[in-house]
Formats: sequence, structure tokens, C-alpha cells
Amino acid sequence: MKKFFKWLAIIVGTVIVLILIYAAITLVRYNRFGLYASGGELLPNQKAFDVTFYDISLRPDAGRKYLSGTTSVELIAIEDQLAEIQLHLIDNFTVSAITDAKKNILKFTHEDGLIKVWLATPGKINEKIRLNISYAGKPVEAIRPPWIGGINWSKDADGHDWIGLSCQGEGGKIWFPCKDHPSDEADSVFLHITVPEPYFCAANGLLRSVDSDSGYLTYHWETRYPINNYNINFAIGMYGKVEQEYITETGEKMPVVFYVLPQSRQGAEKHVAMAIDMLQSYRKFYGEYPFAREKFGLVQTDYLGMEHQTLNAYGNNYRYGKVFNSELELDWLMLHEMGHEWWGNKVTVKDWSHFWIQEGICSYGEALYQLDKSGEDAYHKKMQQIRRRIRNKSPIVIHANATTTEAYNGDIYSKGAYLMHTLRYVLGDSVFFSTLKQFATDPKYTYQNFIDSDDLIDLVIQNSGRNYRPLMEMYLKTTKLPQVEIDSTGISQYEVSIPNIEFRLPMEVTVGDKSRRYLLGREKVAIAADERPVVDARGWYLKEGDLH
Ligand SMILES: [Zn+2]
Repeated sequence: MKKFFKWLAIIVGTVIVLILIYAAITLVRYNRFGLYASGGELLPNQKAFDVTFYDISLRPDAGRKYLSGTTSVELIAIEDQLAEIQLHLIDNFTVSAITDAKKNILKFTHEDGLIKVWLATPGKINEKIRLNISYAGKPVEAIRPPWIGGINWSKDADGHDWIGLSCQGEGGKIWFPCKDHPSDEADSVFLHITVPEPYFCAANGLLRSVDSDSGYLTYHWETRYPINNYNINFAIGMYGKVEQEYITETGEKMPVVFYVLPQSRQGAEKHVAMAIDMLQSYRKFYGEYPFAREKFGLVQTDYLGMEHQTLNAYGNNYRYGKVFNSELELDWLMLHEMGHEWWGNKVTVKDWSHFWIQEGICSYGEALYQLDKSGEDAYHKKMQQIRRRIRNKSPIVIHANATTTEAYNGDIYSKGAYLMHTLRYVLGDSVFFSTLKQFATDPKYTYQNFIDSDDLIDLVIQNSGRNYRPLMEMYLKTTKLPQVEIDSTGISQYEVSIPNIEFRLPMEVTVGDKSRRYLLGREKVAIAADERPVVDARGWYLKEGDLH
């Protein structure tokens, strides 16, 4: 009997240890984004259709922290004999009914975050299919928005409801049924949100109309640009509207709108003027603001920010800094999120493995803004600030079909931005800036077409006529950094090399006040100099020894 208890204790002990290990791994894995990751391997069933339209009707209930409504999903079959459709929706919600365009009641299951619907008759290739999904439930609450997102059921300073939503890490499935993958964007989205009077609901695109019924208002919003599911967004509060006009390069007028709470109303005009100035600056580098037929929108949120298309979440409370070497004020959060209207919203990765393109180029844009406003020294100061954040513990492009959770880390911002900085030096301003603009404007890379790191690498090779793939892949897919060696070989004689790389990099070698560009690699290059030469003095490259 004693033996039995001994074994029982060992088994129970082992189980407890295993549970603790599992819990620890789970906590570490989800410390960036919450329990729900987005993206990853595309479900085989979802390869068979392309979502074209979401029509979302919702009634958020702040008192019960509850959502109820209907989402209509329009899709096109890209395979024949499409009998079943799978869509994501977390299990917090109960689906009450699914019908098709002909009002047929369809058979479905909903478990493990997946709705499986069987069509009345199998879809034919190119057939348009519509599903109307009615659902309700308590959505997840945001724990650490925008990093661990969900709904913010907040109150403003006057005690009024203030509802926000963020779900980049989790995907749209935490609040509406969708195909939760970055490689498929709806061409347009309509939102109909019902709120108690006199609340205002802001959302993507343009406000078409507002209906009033028994003390409730329904706001009808429409966006007719492709949009990825995490960017579909609404915010509810006692918002007022501050609006100014932006004139596009071709002379069209576009509203720049800030939905702001009464407590923050003071300062809103100045903030909107700053937004317009930033739009004008960005378009020099990236081309025109991508959603000019609708608006550039900001909405005050109870979390820092997120790049929701035509409705950037803004929670930085006018905490302005200064443009380097200048007296100009700058809201870095607004600048960053606005940059995503190009990098993320117009140019979108097909797989979260290439998350760095959205965050890294967007962060690099903050340095370009410094360049535009204050010149070359301010640009370099910003790049050095970005460099200090690089950790370089793991590559920024990991395996294919990554989820948001797997792909997200600080280096996708900083090291990604630094690679763009390196490319500026390597390609020279003329090729670099035209390549950057081409990447942001060529239909091949924008809106309904999706990209990955290879698209950028190929474009760099094509525009420069040189094979910069090894350079770019070193910084993207490895943690290796060029290690510059400078040896004294005699009186006034030095040899410079980069022994740990298999290719050659153009680098500036400075002796006294003279600089010359050399191609450096394993082979030693002799440099005549009275004093020890300095390699890459300006810091165009991230090199061994730069990180501490
Ligand atoms: Zn960002």
C-alpha cells in the first residue's frame, strides 16, 4: 500500500509539473498578443474562396459588455464544387442562424473558433456566395491594447461610455465572423452600428447616413477600398468632430477628421493641422495618401494607438516631442500610425512572417519625416535612436506561414527600419527613393495585391542592377552582422576587411577628413593612411559591435 501511495505521489507530482511547464510556455508565448493569434497557415478550405465584402450590423451593449448582430460575408468560389465554407469566430459568441442570399437556412457547426457552413448547393467556380451569420456574446476584453486587444469598455472623464476595439494580434475573429488571414482582404466593408442616443460611432470610410429609432442611432459607414480584417474598426463615445481640408496632389479635397472627446477638444485643431502637414510630408516619399476618396481619420481611444484604415486610433493625449534640431512639434504616435496607411494598409504582407515590412518601413518613415522637416543630421539622429532599440536576438523573418504572435518582436520595427537606412546608402538616393515610391505605388504591390520580402528584394535588384539579395537576407533571415577588421600592417599602412561575410558591401572608409567608398569583403583592402581609418563613420550599417 505504501508503494502505491509513493507511485501515486510521483504521478500526481509529474502531472502538476507538466501543467506548470505548459502554463509557463503558454504565458511566454502569449505575452505579446493575447490568447488568439492571427494568420499562420491558411486553412485548406479557405484557399477555395476569396472574400469580397463584409456587411456588419452590430449593437454593442456597454452595460452588459455584450455584442449582438449579423455579419454578411460575400465571397467568390475559386474552386469548383465548393460545398463547405469555413470562417473564424471565437467561441465567446453563439451563432444563432446562418442563411444564404436566397434565405435558405444552412446547416453549420461552430466550435474551436471555427464556423463550418454547408451550402444548399455546392458553389461553382467564380460563383458569388453570400452568408448571413447572426451571432451574439460577450467579446474578449482588451488586456493590454493594442498588444493584447479586444474591446475596451471604458468610461470618459464625465462617466460616459467610451468603447474602443483593437485586434491586430488577434484578428477580426474576436468580434465578427471572417476569414482571418492577411492574404485576403475584402474589397469593401459596410458597418451599421447601433448605439444609444446621443452617442457617436466612428468607423472606416465614409458616414453615409444615420437612422434614429426609439432612442437609438444607427450609423451607416462604408469603405470601398480593400481592407484587412484587423483594420475594420469602430469606436463609440461622446465624440465631437474637428475637421480640416487636405488637398491632394491632383487638387482633390479630402477631409481630415478627428473624433475627439469633449475633455480633449482643446488642442484638436492644432493636432489636425499637424496631421495634414504629416500627410504632405509622407506623400513626397510614398506617393499620395492611399484612401483619398474617403478620409484620413483619427479617433480618440483609451489605448495608445493602432493604424485602422482611415480611422487611426489615437490615445497619445497630445504628448508632443520636437523634430530634431528644430522647434517644430511632433506627435510620434500619430506619425507612426499614419505611416501604416501606406505600409500595412495599402502595401500589405500576405504572410505575417514579413511583418517587418509593415512595421520596419513605417518606422523608417519617421526618420524620413525628420529628413523632410529638419535635414540630414536630424534623419541620422533618428536612425541612431532607432538603432539603440535593436536587440538582434532572432531573425526578423522567421519561417513561412507565421502567426502574428510568432512574428512579432521589437526588431521588426528597429532592425527593419535600419535595413531601409542601409539600402539608402547602398543604392544611393536617386535609386533608393524611386524604389521606395515604386513599392508604395505600383499596382503590383498595392491594395488587392499582397507582398512579401522577396518582392522588395527583387525590386531592389531590378532597380539597382546588382544582387543585393545576400545583404538583405543576412539582415532579414539571420542575426549575423558584418564584422569590420582594421589591421595595421606597417607605417601608414592598414588593411580593412569583413572576414565573416561571403559577399562584398560598399562602405565608406574615412581617413582624416577624406572619405572614399570601397567594396569590402573577406579580401583585405590596403589603405594608406597616417592615422587609423574609420569604416562606416556615419553608421549606415548595423555592424558587429554596434549593439550593447
Ligand atoms: Zn506600427
